[in-house]
Order: sequence, then structure tokens, then C-alpha cells
Amino acid sequence: MGEGFKGVNTERVQKDRESRKRGSDFWSPDEGDTLLYVAPCPPGIDGVPYVEGAFHFSATNRGEGKGASFCLDSNANAMLTDADPAHDAFVSRLKELDRDPDDMGGCSICEALDSGDFEKKVKDAARKQTRYMWNVLPIKYRKKQSAPWTDLNEGLRPYMCSFTVWDGICSVIGDLGDITDPNGAVLIILHREGTGMSTRYQVSADAATIKKPLVLDKATKQMLRDALKDGGTGDLLRIVAAMTKDRTTQEADWNGMKVEEGGGKSGGDRKPSCFGVDWDDSKECAKCPHSGPCAKKSGAKKPKDNDDKPAKKADDDASEMVKAGDCVEGEAYEVKDDGKTKVGRFKGTAGKWALFQNIEDDDDLIRLKTGVEVEHVTVEVEEPEPEPAKGKGKAKPADDDDDDDDAALKELEARIKAKAAKGGKDK
Ligand SMILES: [Zn+2]
Repeated sequence: MGEGFKGVNTERVQKDRESRKRGSDFWSPDEGDTLLYVAPCPPGIDGVPYVEGAFHFSATNRGEGKGASFCLDSNANAMLTDADPAHDAFVSRLKELDRDPDDMGGCSICEALDSGDFEKKVKDAARKQTRYMWNVLPIKYRKKQSAPWTDLNEGLRPYMCSFTVWDGICSVIGDLGDITDPNGAVLIILHREGTGMSTRYQVSADAATIKKPLVLDKATKQMLRDALKDGGTGDLLRIVAAMTKDRTTQEADWNGMKVEEGGGKSGGDRKPSCFGVDWDDSKECAKCPHSGPCAKKSGAKKPKDNDDKPAKKADDDASEMVKAGDCVEGEAYEVKDDGKTKVGRFKGTAGKWALFQNIEDDDDLIRLKTGVEVEHVTVEVEEPEPEPAKGKGKAKPADDDDDDDDAALKELEARIKAKAAKGGKDK
């Protein structure tokens, strides 16, 4: 490379190419039986060989377009909070992919679905759904039990499954221990029947490798080692990060808005053009989802950071708005949580989060990004009385998600039915 030129980092190019491929490269089982090796824990995740996440799968054009989006509700995806052990690893991957980790507060799709008037069909398609992501190595395939096995040569693939398959694999692990051990693996037989809505899955352990666990050959072990490095092809957290849009982008995609491409930046830096240069105390800025980080970036213009505070108290209607992180302990604030407006008493901050106790529901701890604007409530709020007995259907756990549970239950039912129908066919 001559002087004055910058050389190409081929590794980086390759990495970019890989990351582009990801997300659309999920393995999907064909109808019939597939013999699978399930790979060990992915980078950034300890103890479990999968990543669990809630996604919206019709995340564009108000639920009528395709495209997945990681749900930004921290109750659904704990990884968004620093209480989760995978949080830091997830955030570092978001940054690598030019996603803004400071703009992940609250899911605009959940909020839209909660507050809007949508057809049931759209609501069903767009609602958040829990999925489990694995790295699998499909080894053999047969169309039916009587057909001979044929070898597959797919390499290690990310695989996204729903509750039934996850439950099946976990139950095999429960029975047989760590089936992912490259020096003593037990393979899985994944049986698929039907397509579309009538697809049914069954998971069983492969009898041959139960009897004699499989020792992977050297080349396969090396391939796994490489794939399961940070940023490798088996970096499932990175795939999830690639499916995560920051709130601004998520909102724009949901509303079917075309957003200008950032100046040559492939990652899609979709902040408004005034970002970081033009923050003020106006309502307009308060409404902008980029307000928090924008104010930080345009620091000098942020009244709070100025030594000689501008005439803020003579200000307009925005004067009651404060950043969640700047609230006064014990004071009450009107906050938006999960699309609902609640009144919460400020308890303090934990890392990037501001915590509020819902004054109407003692069990409900509201967690907001410290940069989110909340409204100070001037009405006096009484200390909530401890409830002598739980009544009025309040016995529901705070983080429960009806929809997901319904779906999971349906799947479980279907699985039990399928098992019953299969009866004693198993050897
Ligand atoms: Zn959501």
C-alpha cells in the first residue's frame, strides 16, 4: 500500500459480510426427522446454550409489513437492564453494530398495540413472541422413519424455535445432562410435521448416541471453537443485537416512514439531523425519543450543565418536566410505563435506570431510563397502606404476559396431544 493510502482490513470486511448475512440465515428444519448436534453456550451467555428473547415479527407498516424487531420492553427482555448477566455483552454488541444503547427505553410497538385500534389479525402478527435461539449442527436427515438417513453438510447454523422445541431440548438435557459436550455429545432428533400454522414438532434424544456418546472430530471441534468466539458466526447475542432497532428506528419502521440514510454509514444512523447540535428545553425536544442522549451530546446548550442557569423558571409548560434521573426522592411523578400512564414515587437510580414505586400498586416497580422525561406531579400523594389481604384478582405476577403464556400453553397442549396420538409407537 503506497503512502497516503489506507489499506483494507480483510478480516473486518469478512466480519461485516458475516454480520450482514446473519439474521436471515436461520436454519429451519424440513418436514421429517433431522439429527442435530446442539452446540455449547454461545459467547456472552453463561450456563445455557440458548438465548431467550421476545420479538415482534411484523414490525413494520403498523403490523402489516414483515421484519423482526427485538421488543424494547425491559420486562419482556431483561437483557435490556443491567440487572441481567448478559446485559454488558449485549450492549457492547449493539455498539459494534451502530445501535444506540441509550435509545432502548420502552417498546414503541408494544405501546402502539396497547393504545391503538388494530384488527385482531394484525395484533396477533405483531404482538411480542418469545423465541429461543440456539446454535445447531444438522447432521443427518430422513423424510420419514422408514427412509434411510442422508448426510447433511450445513455447518453450524443459528436456529430459532418456539416454546415446544425449547422445552423438548431442555427436557432431554434434564434427563441426560450436558448433551453439548464435544467429547461426549448426545444428538437430538427433531421431528417436524406439517407447515405454517399446522406445524408440529417433537423432540427426542437419539438412542445411538445415548448408548455411545459422540466424540466430535478435531476439525469440527476447531470449527466450533472459532464459531463460538466473540463475534464469531455462533455469536447469538450479536444476532439478537442485529435484530434490535433503537426506539427511533423501531418507531419509524413501525409507522412505515422512510428514514434518510445517515451520511454513508451502513448501520443506519437514523437520528434527526439536529441530533447533538440543537437541543433545547422546548416541547418538541422533550417529545423526541433522542432527547436524552442528544442533550448530553450538545452539552453546552443543556441548561443543567451551564453554570449561569438561563431563566428556566420563567419557562413555559415544559417546566414541570424533568429527567427521570434528576427526580427528587420521595416525590411523585407521572411516568409512562408499558404504554400506560402511572404515578410513581421516585426511589432513586440504579445505574442507567431510575426507579419509581407505583403508588397505586405497591408490587409494581417502574423502571425508566434516567434520560427519559417525566412530569412532576404536584398533588399530594398519600403513603400506600400495606394491604391486609390480596384481593380483586391482583394475585398475578407483575411480569406476567398473558399472550405469551397463552401461546405457550397452546403449544404445550398441542405437544401433549401429539404425544398421545403417537401413543406407543416409540420403541
Ligand atoms: Zn415490544
